Amino acid sequence: MKPLALFGGTFDPVHIGHLSVAWEASELLDAEVRLMPASVPPHRVPPTASAAQRVDMLRAALRGQSRLTLDTRELDRSGPSYTVDTLDEFRLECGERPLMLLLGADAFAGLRSWHRWRDLFEVAHIGVINRPGVEASLPVELERAVAARRTDDPAIIRARPAGRVIELAVTPLEVSATHIRQLLAAGRDPRYLLPAGLFDDPALLAPYRSSFENG
Ligand code: ATP
Repeated sequence: MKPLALFGGTFDPVHIGHLSVAWEASELLDAEVRLMPASVPPHRVPPTASAAQRVDMLRAALRGQSRLTLDTRELDRSGPSYTVDTLDEFRLECGERPLMLLLGADAFAGLRSWHRWRDLFEVAHIGVINRPGVEASLPVELERAVAARRTDDPAIIRARPAGRVIELAVTPLEVSATHIRQLLAAGRDPRYLLPAGLFDDPALLAPYRSSFENG
């Protein structure tokens, strides 16, 4: 069965790194990939763009193709949500369909700080996307938890609903939203680091430019 892979993030803003790795993951796994913007807990630094603005940018970025889609369920709920709860909800909807959480290597390395992190493996596979500048070695406790789950065979992912960890070797792109926000705030125009659709409407990138224009 075609796996359903969920790629969560703040997408503040969505950039070519997100899109390219999500696209390649979809090809490597023959999976449906959904980009899933997260609401951010009150104690964390809030994203520069509002939830609605981040969704508008994602919609503009995803226009013109159908391999990657958008899932706004975490924003549609009131308050922040834990990934494991969201995955539980997907599991109920999906039956036995393979479910995968896609994570950049930096996010994966920090998995132990996630709510009920060990339960994530019960509800989904994890696809780890290489990211330039991220060390390959994992904290010992995490490595111990994943060692027996590792596979490099997409057929194994397709054959069961959850429980395995696969490294996805995608084209490395050293792009981050932080860097793009800095460029925009400095009045630069990072045209080719962002999907072309984000330049169709000047309002889309205005949240990042205003600090430069106002300051
Ligand atoms: P920020 O710089 O604001 O922290 P970011 O560029 O890391 O943002 P997020 O929205 O926080 O983007 O990331 C969502 C997911 O995408 C995470 O799992 C992250 O590891 C992954 N990701 C983001 N950029 C890349 C990239 N260039 N290569 C691989 N994975 C990436």
